[in-house]
Amino acid sequence: MKIFCIGRNYRDHAAEMGGGVPSEPMVFMKPGSAIHAPFGGYRKPGFTNDFHYEIEIVARIGRTLKNATDIDLRNMIDGIGLGIDFTARDLQKLCKERRHPWEIAKAFDGSAVVSSFMDPSALDIHHLEFSLHQNGKAVQAGNTSEMVFDFKTLISYISRYFTLDKGDLLFSGTPEGVGPVYHGDRLEGFLQNKKMIDLEIL
Ligand code: ZN
Repeated sequence: MKIFCIGRNYRDHAAEMGGGVPSEPMVFMKPGSAIHAPFGGYRKPGFTNDFHYEIEIVARIGRTLKNATDIDLRNMIDGIGLGIDFTARDLQKLCKERRHPWEIAKAFDGSAVVSSFMDPSALDIHHLEFSLHQNGKAVQAGNTSEMVFDFKTLISYISRYFTLDKGDLLFSGTPEGVGPVYHGDRLEGFLQNKKMIDLEIL
């Protein structure tokens, strides 16, 4: 399985990263080994001194797709969940400066926390509310209505370059408010007010 991720897909987050929104979706990938459970302890990696959370809506792909132009989302997405795109911000900055790919900063083991999935037919996927709390305080809040590129556009764009398979995941971008994670932190993620993620940073 593959994990696709979208950078700068919320305007205010693009601004906080220092820059505008891209004219086309900004796609990167993580391997299956990046997946981490949504509950329990999370061991912060030792290779970074600036470890950031990014809360994101995750769409699970429901069938094989290649070169799609007109997409019916109802049979394209078979699950909606919540994820954290953990990022070693210091390494990412270094990769950007060196003009290197940024996998070591974004695709390492445990960099993709993924929750359980909700049935999308019971949801309005274009108006999903989600948030992240750090030690009980809301640090990020988003709504999929604010996505720069919507699910249809993202899936169609990705399918030009990659075959999408059933079970692949799409991290759809993070809203503003990304920030550092410290030992002892508690991170709780909410999707439509339901707690989907609860991690203690070890
Ligand atoms: Zn992200």
